[in-house]
Amino acid sequence: MSAIAAEAPLAILGGGPVGLTLALLLARRGVRSVVFDARSVEQASDDRRLLALSLGSLQTIGAVTDLPRGAVTPIRTVIVSSVGQFGRAVIGKSDVAGEMLGATIRYGELIAALSAATASNDLISMRRSVRVLAVQQFPASVEIELDGHEPFGAPLALSAEGLGQAPVESASQSALLADVEVSGIDAGTACERFTRDGPLALLPLPARLSAGSHRKALVWCMDPAQADRRSVLSDANFLAELRSQLGGRGLQVLAVGARKCYPLYQRARDDLVEHRIVYLGNAAQTLHPVAGQGLNLGLRDSVILADQIGAACAAEADPVKALHEYARSRRADRAAILALTRLTPSFFATRFAPIAAVRSIGLTALAVVPNLRREFARLLMFGVRF
Ligand SMILES: Cc1cc2nc3c(=O)[nH]c(=O)nc-3n(C[C@H](O)[C@H](O)[C@H](O)COP(=O)(O)OP(=O)(O)OC[C@H]3O[C@@H](n4cnc5c(N)ncnc54)[C@H](O)[C@@H]3O)c2cc1C
Repeated sequence: MSAIAAEAPLAILGGGPVGLTLALLLARRGVRSVVFDARSVEQASDDRRLLALSLGSLQTIGAVTDLPRGAVTPIRTVIVSSVGQFGRAVIGKSDVAGEMLGATIRYGELIAALSAATASNDLISMRRSVRVLAVQQFPASVEIELDGHEPFGAPLALSAEGLGQAPVESASQSALLADVEVSGIDAGTACERFTRDGPLALLPLPARLSAGSHRKALVWCMDPAQADRRSVLSDANFLAELRSQLGGRGLQVLAVGARKCYPLYQRARDDLVEHRIVYLGNAAQTLHPVAGQGLNLGLRDSVILADQIGAACAAEADPVKALHEYARSRRADRAAILALTRLTPSFFATRFAPIAAVRSIGLTALAVVPNLRREFARLLMFGVRF
Protein backbone atom coordinates (compact mmCIF):
# COMPACT_ATOMS: atom_id res chain seq x y z
CA MET A 1 0.00 0.00 0.00
CA SER A 2 1.30 3.52 -0.70
CA ALA A 3 -1.39 6.19 -0.43
CA ILE A 4 -4.67 6.62 1.41
CA ALA A 5 -7.49 9.09 0.75
CA ALA A 6 -7.11 12.29 2.79
CA GLU A 7 -10.47 11.76 4.53
CA ALA A 8 -9.65 8.14 5.52
CA PRO A 9 -10.10 7.47 9.25
CA LEU A 10 -7.05 7.68 11.51
CA ALA A 11 -6.04 4.54 13.41
CA ILE A 12 -5.99 4.89 17.22
CA LEU A 13 -4.06 1.99 18.78
CA GLY A 14 -5.40 1.41 22.30
CA GLY A 15 -8.83 2.24 23.69
CA GLY A 16 -7.83 3.09 27.25
CA PRO A 17 -8.96 6.43 28.72
CA VAL A 18 -6.47 8.39 26.58
CA GLY A 19 -7.24 6.65 23.25
CA LEU A 20 -11.01 6.92 23.76
CA THR A 21 -10.82 10.59 24.78
CA LEU A 22 -8.66 11.31 21.73
CA ALA A 23 -11.23 9.63 19.44
CA LEU A 24 -14.02 11.75 20.95
CA LEU A 25 -12.02 14.99 20.74
CA LEU A 26 -11.13 14.27 17.09
CA ALA A 27 -14.80 13.56 16.33
CA ARG A 28 -15.72 17.00 17.74
CA ARG A 29 -13.43 18.43 15.06
CA GLY A 30 -15.05 16.29 12.35
CA VAL A 31 -12.12 13.81 12.14
CA ARG A 32 -12.98 10.10 11.77
CA SER A 33 -11.08 7.36 13.57
CA VAL A 34 -11.01 3.62 14.14
CA VAL A 35 -9.96 2.53 17.65
CA PHE A 36 -8.35 -0.91 18.17
CA ASP A 37 -8.13 -2.44 21.63
CA ALA A 38 -6.98 -5.89 22.73
CA ARG A 39 -9.46 -5.98 25.64
CA SER A 40 -13.25 -6.26 25.67
CA VAL A 41 -15.08 -3.43 27.43
CA GLU A 42 -15.94 -5.89 30.24
CA GLN A 43 -12.25 -6.73 30.79
CA ALA A 44 -11.33 -3.04 30.85
CA SER A 45 -14.25 -2.23 33.16
CA ASP A 46 -13.00 -4.78 35.71
CA ASP A 47 -10.00 -2.53 36.55
CA ARG A 48 -10.85 -1.07 39.97
CA ARG A 49 -7.84 1.23 40.35
CA LEU A 50 -9.02 4.63 41.57
CA LEU A 51 -7.91 7.62 39.52
CA ALA A 52 -7.60 11.15 40.89
CA LEU A 53 -8.58 13.46 38.03
CA SER A 54 -7.51 17.08 38.11
CA LEU A 55 -9.94 19.90 37.39
CA GLY A 56 -8.37 20.26 33.94
CA SER A 57 -9.00 16.55 33.19
CA LEU A 58 -12.60 16.80 34.40
CA GLN A 59 -13.12 19.70 31.98
CA THR A 60 -11.61 17.67 29.10
CA ILE A 61 -13.76 14.61 29.83
CA GLY A 62 -16.83 16.79 30.51
CA ALA A 63 -16.51 18.16 26.96
CA VAL A 64 -16.95 14.67 25.45
CA THR A 65 -19.19 12.75 27.87
CA ASP A 66 -21.14 12.95 31.13
CA LEU A 67 -19.64 10.90 33.94
CA PRO A 68 -22.23 9.05 36.09
CA ARG A 69 -22.81 11.16 39.23
CA GLY A 70 -22.52 8.29 41.71
CA ALA A 71 -19.13 7.22 40.30
CA VAL A 72 -17.39 10.56 40.84
CA THR A 73 -16.25 11.84 44.26
CA PRO A 74 -14.97 15.42 44.63
CA ILE A 75 -11.55 16.15 46.15
CA ARG A 76 -11.88 19.38 48.14
CA THR A 77 -8.66 19.33 50.18
CA VAL A 78 -5.27 17.65 49.83
CA ILE A 79 -3.01 17.20 52.87
CA VAL A 80 0.69 16.62 52.07
CA SER A 81 2.92 15.32 54.89
CA SER A 82 5.94 13.14 55.51
CA VAL A 83 6.63 10.51 58.21
CA GLY A 84 8.91 11.86 60.96
CA GLN A 85 8.93 15.40 59.57
CA PHE A 86 7.66 18.69 60.82
CA GLY A 87 5.79 20.65 58.17
CA ARG A 88 2.46 19.72 56.64
CA ALA A 89 0.81 21.47 53.72
CA VAL A 90 -2.95 21.74 53.25
CA ILE A 91 -4.10 22.64 49.75
CA GLY A 92 -7.74 23.68 49.70
CA LYS A 93 -10.33 25.69 47.85
CA SER A 94 -8.74 29.01 48.84
CA ASP A 95 -5.79 27.97 46.64
CA VAL A 96 -7.93 27.40 43.55
CA ALA A 97 -10.69 29.39 41.89
CA GLY A 98 -13.48 26.92 42.67
CA GLU A 99 -15.08 24.52 45.09
CA MET A 100 -12.88 21.51 44.35
CA LEU A 101 -9.40 20.50 43.26
CA GLY A 102 -10.49 17.49 41.24
CA ALA A 103 -12.39 14.22 41.68
CA THR A 104 -11.86 10.48 41.81
CA ILE A 105 -13.34 7.74 39.63
CA ARG A 106 -12.59 4.04 39.15
CA TYR A 107 -10.67 3.27 35.95
CA GLY A 108 -13.40 0.79 34.90
CA GLU A 109 -16.21 3.32 35.36
CA LEU A 110 -14.34 5.91 33.31
CA ILE A 111 -13.83 3.38 30.49
CA ALA A 112 -17.52 2.42 30.58
CA ALA A 113 -18.61 6.09 30.24
CA LEU A 114 -16.14 6.87 27.45
CA SER A 115 -17.01 3.63 25.61
CA ALA A 116 -20.71 4.50 25.70
CA ALA A 117 -19.91 7.92 24.19
CA THR A 118 -17.79 6.41 21.39
CA ALA A 119 -20.49 3.82 20.61
CA SER A 120 -23.03 6.56 19.87
CA ASN A 121 -20.65 8.61 17.70
CA ASP A 122 -20.87 8.03 13.92
CA LEU A 123 -17.32 9.27 13.34
CA ILE A 124 -15.78 6.59 15.60
CA SER A 125 -15.56 2.90 14.86
CA MET A 126 -14.55 0.74 17.85
CA ARG A 127 -12.85 -2.63 17.29
CA ARG A 128 -12.40 -4.42 20.61
CA SER A 129 -10.69 -7.74 21.34
CA VAL A 130 -8.38 -6.96 18.40
CA ARG A 131 -4.65 -6.93 19.19
CA VAL A 132 -2.29 -4.72 17.18
CA LEU A 133 0.83 -6.71 16.26
CA ALA A 134 2.90 -4.14 14.34
CA VAL A 135 2.73 -0.96 12.28
CA GLN A 136 4.37 -0.72 8.87
CA GLN A 137 5.16 2.75 7.60
CA PHE A 138 4.98 3.99 4.00
CA PRO A 139 5.68 7.50 2.68
CA ALA A 140 2.02 8.53 2.73
CA SER A 141 0.32 5.96 4.98
CA VAL A 142 0.64 3.25 7.62
CA GLU A 143 -0.56 -0.33 7.66
CA ILE A 144 -1.64 -1.82 10.99
CA GLU A 145 -1.06 -5.56 11.36
CA LEU A 146 -3.80 -7.15 13.48
CA ASP A 147 -3.92 -10.51 15.24
CA GLY A 148 -6.37 -12.75 13.32
CA HIS A 149 -7.76 -9.91 11.14
CA GLU A 150 -6.99 -8.26 7.80
CA PRO A 151 -4.41 -5.43 7.99
CA PHE A 152 -5.81 -1.90 8.24
CA GLY A 153 -4.50 1.07 6.24
CA ALA A 154 -4.64 4.64 7.58
CA PRO A 155 -2.96 8.03 7.11
CA LEU A 156 -1.62 8.01 10.71
CA ALA A 157 -1.23 5.62 13.66
CA LEU A 158 -1.94 7.34 16.99
CA SER A 159 -0.46 5.05 19.63
CA ALA A 160 -2.24 5.09 23.00
CA GLU A 161 -1.37 1.47 23.88
CA GLY A 162 -0.16 2.29 27.36
CA LEU A 163 2.89 0.39 28.49
CA GLY A 164 2.04 -2.38 25.97
CA GLN A 165 3.71 -5.69 26.82
CA ALA A 166 4.93 -5.91 30.43
CA PRO A 167 8.64 -4.99 30.36
CA VAL A 168 11.19 -7.77 30.86
CA GLU A 169 12.89 -5.90 33.71
CA SER A 170 11.24 -6.30 37.11
CA ALA A 171 9.11 -3.47 38.48
CA SER A 172 10.96 -0.82 40.53
CA GLN A 173 8.06 -0.57 43.00
CA SER A 174 4.59 -2.00 43.52
CA ALA A 175 1.43 -0.15 44.46
CA LEU A 176 -0.58 -1.90 47.16
CA LEU A 177 -4.26 -1.03 46.64
CA ALA A 178 -7.14 -1.50 49.08
CA ASP A 179 -10.30 0.25 50.20
CA VAL A 180 -10.10 1.31 53.85
CA GLU A 181 -12.65 2.62 56.33
CA VAL A 182 -11.47 5.76 58.11
CA SER A 183 -12.66 8.37 60.59
CA GLY A 184 -11.33 11.73 61.74
CA ILE A 185 -10.93 13.14 58.23
CA ASP A 186 -13.45 14.79 55.88
CA ALA A 187 -15.02 12.76 53.07
CA GLY A 188 -13.61 15.14 50.45
CA THR A 189 -10.05 15.13 51.81
CA ALA A 190 -7.18 13.30 50.07
CA CYS A 191 -3.87 12.61 51.87
CA GLU A 192 -0.47 12.26 50.23
CA ARG A 193 1.93 10.95 52.89
CA PHE A 194 5.56 10.20 52.19
CA THR A 195 6.77 7.14 54.05
CA ARG A 196 10.35 5.78 53.95
CA ASP A 197 9.01 2.83 51.90
CA GLY A 198 7.37 5.13 49.34
CA PRO A 199 4.42 7.51 48.91
CA LEU A 200 1.05 6.57 50.37
CA ALA A 201 -2.22 8.16 49.21
CA LEU A 202 -5.70 8.03 50.70
CA LEU A 203 -8.26 9.12 48.12
CA PRO A 204 -11.97 9.91 48.56
CA LEU A 205 -14.50 7.24 47.58
CA PRO A 206 -18.28 7.56 47.38
CA ALA A 207 -20.56 6.40 50.22
CA ARG A 208 -20.51 7.36 53.87
CA LEU A 209 -20.57 4.21 56.03
CA SER A 210 -21.86 5.54 59.34
CA ALA A 211 -21.83 8.88 61.12
CA GLY A 212 -18.21 10.03 61.03
CA SER A 213 -16.68 7.16 59.06
CA HIS A 214 -16.24 6.71 55.31
CA ARG A 215 -14.22 4.83 52.74
CA LYS A 216 -10.98 5.89 51.14
CA ALA A 217 -8.89 4.16 48.50
CA LEU A 218 -5.38 3.39 49.72
CA VAL A 219 -2.54 3.52 47.17
CA TRP A 220 0.70 2.65 48.97
CA CYS A 221 3.86 2.42 46.85
CA MET A 222 6.79 0.34 48.09
CA ASP A 223 9.40 -2.23 47.19
CA PRO A 224 7.66 -5.21 45.41
CA ALA A 225 8.78 -7.73 48.07
CA GLN A 226 7.35 -5.52 50.87
CA ALA A 227 4.09 -5.15 48.93
CA ASP A 228 3.80 -8.94 48.47
CA ARG A 229 4.46 -9.46 52.19
CA ARG A 230 1.93 -6.81 53.26
CA SER A 231 -0.71 -8.07 50.84
CA VAL A 232 -0.97 -11.40 52.71
CA LEU A 233 -0.76 -10.10 56.30
CA SER A 234 -3.81 -10.59 58.48
CA ASP A 235 -6.08 -7.52 58.52
CA ALA A 236 -5.00 -6.75 62.11
CA ASN A 237 -1.27 -6.90 61.31
CA PHE A 238 -1.71 -4.92 58.11
CA LEU A 239 -3.68 -2.21 59.93
CA ALA A 240 -0.98 -2.01 62.61
CA GLU A 241 1.71 -1.39 59.94
CA LEU A 242 -0.48 1.11 58.11
CA ARG A 243 -1.34 3.04 61.29
CA SER A 244 2.34 3.28 62.21
CA GLN A 245 2.90 5.25 58.98
CA LEU A 246 -0.05 7.62 59.26
CA GLY A 247 0.75 9.63 62.37
CA GLY A 248 -1.77 11.26 64.68
CA ARG A 249 -3.96 14.33 64.03
CA GLY A 250 -7.20 12.38 64.48
CA LEU A 251 -7.05 10.17 61.39
CA GLN A 252 -8.07 6.60 62.29
CA VAL A 253 -8.05 3.62 59.95
CA LEU A 254 -10.80 1.30 61.19
CA ALA A 255 -10.86 -1.54 58.65
CA VAL A 256 -9.28 -2.72 55.41
CA GLY A 257 -10.83 -4.53 52.43
CA ALA A 258 -9.27 -6.86 49.84
CA ARG A 259 -5.68 -5.96 48.88
CA LYS A 260 -4.15 -6.05 45.40
CA CYS A 261 -0.60 -5.35 44.19
CA TYR A 262 0.12 -3.47 41.00
CA PRO A 263 3.65 -3.51 39.49
CA LEU A 264 4.93 0.00 38.72
CA TYR A 265 7.16 0.88 35.78
CA GLN A 266 8.53 4.23 34.77
CA ARG A 267 9.37 4.94 31.15
CA ALA A 268 9.41 7.93 28.86
CA ARG A 269 10.06 8.14 25.13
CA ASP A 270 12.60 10.67 23.92
CA ASP A 271 10.76 11.08 20.61
CA LEU A 272 6.99 11.26 20.42
CA VAL A 273 6.91 11.02 16.62
CA GLU A 274 8.25 8.36 14.27
CA HIS A 275 7.21 9.53 10.77
CA ARG A 276 3.45 8.62 10.75
CA ILE A 277 3.26 7.11 14.24
CA VAL A 278 2.72 9.40 17.23
CA TYR A 279 2.68 8.42 20.92
CA LEU A 280 0.49 9.80 23.70
CA GLY A 281 -0.64 8.92 27.22
CA ASN A 282 1.18 6.03 28.89
CA ALA A 283 2.58 4.97 25.50
CA ALA A 284 4.53 8.25 25.56
CA GLN A 285 5.33 8.25 29.28
CA THR A 286 4.48 5.84 32.07
CA LEU A 287 4.88 7.63 35.39
CA HIS A 288 5.13 6.75 39.06
CA PRO A 289 1.61 7.25 40.47
CA VAL A 290 2.86 9.73 43.12
CA ALA A 291 0.60 12.80 43.00
CA GLY A 292 -1.71 10.98 40.52
CA GLN A 293 -0.40 12.62 37.35
CA GLY A 294 -0.23 9.87 34.66
CA LEU A 295 -3.70 10.09 33.23
CA ASN A 296 -3.91 13.84 33.77
CA LEU A 297 -0.79 14.31 31.62
CA GLY A 298 -2.08 11.79 29.04
CA LEU A 299 -5.39 13.64 28.69
CA ARG A 300 -3.49 16.87 28.07
CA ASP A 301 -1.57 14.99 25.33
CA SER A 302 -4.89 14.05 23.74
CA VAL A 303 -6.21 17.64 23.79
CA ILE A 304 -3.12 19.07 22.07
CA LEU A 305 -2.90 16.24 19.53
CA ALA A 306 -6.61 16.55 18.62
CA ASP A 307 -6.21 20.34 18.25
CA GLN A 308 -3.20 20.01 15.96
CA ILE A 309 -4.67 17.22 13.80
CA GLY A 310 -8.06 18.98 13.68
CA ALA A 311 -6.42 22.18 12.41
CA ALA A 312 -4.41 20.30 9.74
CA CYS A 313 -7.52 18.43 8.53
CA ALA A 314 -9.57 21.66 8.45
CA ALA A 315 -6.86 23.17 6.23
CA GLU A 316 -6.99 20.01 4.06
CA ALA A 317 -3.28 19.45 4.77
CA ASP A 318 -1.66 16.06 5.36
CA PRO A 319 -2.22 15.49 9.14
CA VAL A 320 1.36 14.22 9.46
CA LYS A 321 2.34 17.92 9.56
CA ALA A 322 0.55 18.25 12.90
CA LEU A 323 2.63 15.64 14.68
CA HIS A 324 5.86 17.60 15.14
CA GLU A 325 3.94 20.63 16.41
CA TYR A 326 2.26 18.33 18.96
CA ALA A 327 5.65 16.98 20.11
CA ARG A 328 7.02 20.53 20.45
CA SER A 329 3.97 21.77 22.37
CA ARG A 330 4.15 18.91 24.88
CA ARG A 331 7.83 19.38 25.80
CA ALA A 332 7.56 21.69 28.84
CA ASP A 333 4.56 20.00 30.48
CA ARG A 334 6.10 16.52 30.07
CA ALA A 335 9.46 17.66 31.41
CA ALA A 336 7.92 19.27 34.51
CA ILE A 337 5.67 16.33 35.43
CA LEU A 338 8.35 13.71 34.63
CA ALA A 339 10.78 15.52 36.94
CA LEU A 340 8.16 15.84 39.70
CA THR A 341 7.17 12.16 39.62
CA ARG A 342 10.76 10.85 39.25
CA LEU A 343 12.37 12.94 41.97
CA THR A 344 9.67 13.22 44.63
CA PRO A 345 9.59 9.58 45.89
CA SER A 346 13.39 9.38 46.42
CA PHE A 347 13.54 12.92 47.84
CA PHE A 348 11.06 11.89 50.54
CA ALA A 349 12.54 8.41 51.06
CA THR A 350 16.11 9.43 51.93
CA ARG A 351 17.27 9.51 55.56
CA PHE A 352 20.24 11.77 54.71
CA ALA A 353 19.95 14.57 57.30
CA PRO A 354 20.52 17.65 55.05
CA ILE A 355 17.90 16.44 52.58
CA ALA A 356 15.52 15.68 55.45
CA ALA A 357 15.93 19.30 56.59
CA VAL A 358 15.23 20.66 53.09
CA ARG A 359 12.18 18.40 52.97
CA SER A 360 10.76 19.89 56.16
CA ILE A 361 11.51 23.40 54.97
CA GLY A 362 9.83 22.63 51.64
CA LEU A 363 6.68 21.33 53.32
CA THR A 364 6.62 24.30 55.69
CA ALA A 365 7.09 26.73 52.79
CA LEU A 366 4.19 25.06 50.98
CA ALA A 367 2.13 25.37 54.18
CA VAL A 368 2.80 29.07 54.84
CA VAL A 369 3.36 30.68 51.42
CA PRO A 370 -0.02 30.92 49.66
CA ASN A 371 1.45 31.86 46.26
CA LEU A 372 3.73 28.84 46.26
CA ARG A 373 0.80 26.61 47.18
CA ARG A 374 -1.38 28.14 44.46
CA GLU A 375 1.29 27.62 41.81
CA PHE A 376 1.81 24.01 42.97
CA ALA A 377 -1.96 23.37 42.88
CA ARG A 378 -2.16 24.93 39.40
CA LEU A 379 0.66 22.68 38.13
CA LEU A 380 -1.10 19.57 39.46
CA MET A 381 -4.48 20.63 38.06
CA PHE A 382 -3.57 22.02 34.65
CA GLY A 383 0.09 21.15 33.94
CA VAL A 384 2.47 23.68 32.43
CA ARG A 385 0.57 26.24 30.37
CA PHE A 386 1.73 29.22 28.37
C1 LIG B 1 -1.98 2.10 40.93
C2 LIG B 1 -2.12 3.23 39.96
C3 LIG B 1 -2.75 4.40 40.35
C4 LIG B 1 -2.86 5.47 39.45
N1 LIG B 1 -3.47 6.62 39.86
C5 LIG B 1 -3.58 7.65 39.01
C6 LIG B 1 -4.24 8.85 39.41
O1 LIG B 1 -4.72 8.97 40.55
N2 LIG B 1 -4.33 9.87 38.52
C7 LIG B 1 -3.78 9.77 37.26
O2 LIG B 1 -3.85 10.76 36.49
N3 LIG B 1 -3.17 8.64 36.85
C8 LIG B 1 -3.06 7.59 37.69
N4 LIG B 1 -2.46 6.44 37.27
C9 LIG B 1 -1.97 6.35 35.89
C10 LIG B 1 -3.10 6.02 34.91
O3 LIG B 1 -3.72 4.80 35.26
C11 LIG B 1 -2.53 5.94 33.50
O4 LIG B 1 -1.77 7.09 33.24
C12 LIG B 1 -3.65 5.81 32.47
O5 LIG B 1 -4.34 4.60 32.63
C13 LIG B 1 -3.05 5.88 31.06
O6 LIG B 1 -4.08 5.73 30.11
P1 LIG B 1 -3.74 5.22 28.65
O7 LIG B 1 -5.04 5.20 27.92
O8 LIG B 1 -2.61 6.00 28.09
O9 LIG B 1 -3.16 3.75 28.85
P2 LIG B 1 -3.86 2.46 29.47
O10 LIG B 1 -4.81 2.81 30.53
O11 LIG B 1 -2.75 1.52 29.80
O12 LIG B 1 -4.68 1.86 28.23
C14 LIG B 1 -4.00 1.28 27.13
C15 LIG B 1 -4.99 0.49 26.30
O13 LIG B 1 -4.31 -0.05 25.16
C16 LIG B 1 -4.69 -1.39 24.97
N5 LIG B 1 -3.57 -2.10 24.31
C17 LIG B 1 -2.32 -2.29 24.78
N6 LIG B 1 -1.57 -2.97 23.89
C18 LIG B 1 -2.39 -3.20 22.82
C19 LIG B 1 -2.21 -3.84 21.57
N7 LIG B 1 -1.05 -4.40 21.20
N8 LIG B 1 -3.25 -3.92 20.71
C20 LIG B 1 -4.45 -3.36 21.04
N9 LIG B 1 -4.67 -2.73 22.22
C21 LIG B 1 -3.66 -2.65 23.08
C22 LIG B 1 -4.96 -1.92 26.37
O14 LIG B 1 -5.86 -3.02 26.31
C23 LIG B 1 -5.57 -0.70 27.06
O15 LIG B 1 -6.98 -0.67 26.96
C24 LIG B 1 -2.33 5.36 38.14
C25 LIG B 1 -1.70 4.18 37.75
C26 LIG B 1 -1.59 3.12 38.65
C27 LIG B 1 -0.90 1.87 38.19
